[in-house]
Amino acid sequence: MIRVNENFLKLQASYLFSDIAKRISAYQKANPNKSIIKLGIGDVTEPLPQACRDAFHSAIDEMGTHEGFHGYGPEQGYSFLREAIADNDFQARGANISADEIFVSDGAKCDSGNFQEIFAEGIKIAVADPVYPVYVDTNVMAGRSGGSLDGRYQGFVYLESTPENGYVPAIPSEPVDLIYLCFPNNPTGATATKEQLSAWVEYAKESGALILYDAAYVAFVRDSLLPQSIYEVQGAKDVAIEFRSFSKNAGFTGTRCAYTVVPKEITAAGANGEQHSIHALWNRRHCTKFNGVSYPVQKAAEAVYSEAGEHQVKALTDFYLENAKIVKAAIEELGYSCVGGDNSPYIWINARRPSWEFFDHLLNETGVVCTPGAGFGLCGEGHIRISAFNSRENVENAMERIRLALAK
Ligand code: PLP
Repeated sequence: MIRVNENFLKLQASYLFSDIAKRISAYQKANPNKSIIKLGIGDVTEPLPQACRDAFHSAIDEMGTHEGFHGYGPEQGYSFLREAIADNDFQARGANISADEIFVSDGAKCDSGNFQEIFAEGIKIAVADPVYPVYVDTNVMAGRSGGSLDGRYQGFVYLESTPENGYVPAIPSEPVDLIYLCFPNNPTGATATKEQLSAWVEYAKESGALILYDAAYVAFVRDSLLPQSIYEVQGAKDVAIEFRSFSKNAGFTGTRCAYTVVPKEITAAGANGEQHSIHALWNRRHCTKFNGVSYPVQKAAEAVYSEAGEHQVKALTDFYLENAKIVKAAIEELGYSCVGGDNSPYIWINARRPSWEFFDHLLNETGVVCTPGAGFGLCGEGHIRISAFNSRENVENAMERIRLALAK
């Protein structure tokens, strides 16, 4: 008889977004004349940059000719894109990453979820709390946890991000093998300094652990002292994989293009202690299960690195950062402390009360929708996340309503 993978049955359903939708619908029913402003969303709202659209169009026209038609491409991505990535995102910042260490894909969600496949079932996983749920759920599916108890999966090490540590978790006291880090962070918007990342790299080197570093939001970093890649930290090439995406910098959430950096130096042990190349294993996995990102999409992504593209992407991320600044100023003026917003599109607010209570209060008093922090983990309790992905008009209106209602 066909049977299911029992690990999938351990997964806890996430009611976060369906609960939010239910509460919005109840509010709308009770207040049919009031407008709702949604500041809970993690999807971008501005259209694709002109440079990307132009490259996209001309690649599609090329595909309509015999000379320019492209069938299956290299699974790892076309060299024009891999080289543009290596030169602009790494070499230009002093990080020695070469084009053949870049694996182009259709999303940082898939890559950060899939990467664990190449490691043994028995390894110890460390994730932040609060956390982007993909890291947790994919390891539950792979059988690396026990069941869920009081909101946490047994067997995982949770790295707590709290007001006390500035939402940058400390290195765990127990040994772990695979560590998921994300900076600028979703959901908190917190960033890590070079010194903080150096401490993680040192820890990984000493303990034989591997870091999976999700830098999907790096385009929002404006503080020149903050690292833009973990490879700006000495020694990181031996112990860290980095995930990047075109989703949040160039609005590719619906277009789909991302990449993962897998340095050739990294190895992991086999059953007899012999060392295996992670680059070779990931290459094998990628080529077996993935058939490449389409040629026009890769051409559109390459345009991000053109002079016009760089300018337009900067304008796009500046626009969201200005929204974030407006949110942060309004929230701080009301006396709440928050993190994020300066180098990130998310603002994580210490609500000083249960996060769903604050959510309801905001919705009922102002019609503004946020995301309750409790939906991202136990340490998210007492917090809410506000996203800067929206129109200026909506952000300004929302903050005006919040000012009027909460200052009472
Ligand atoms: N990583 C983090 C931390 C995210 O918040 C998101 C999307 O919200 C992703 C990855 C997904 O990126 P992509 O659109 O490339 O799959």
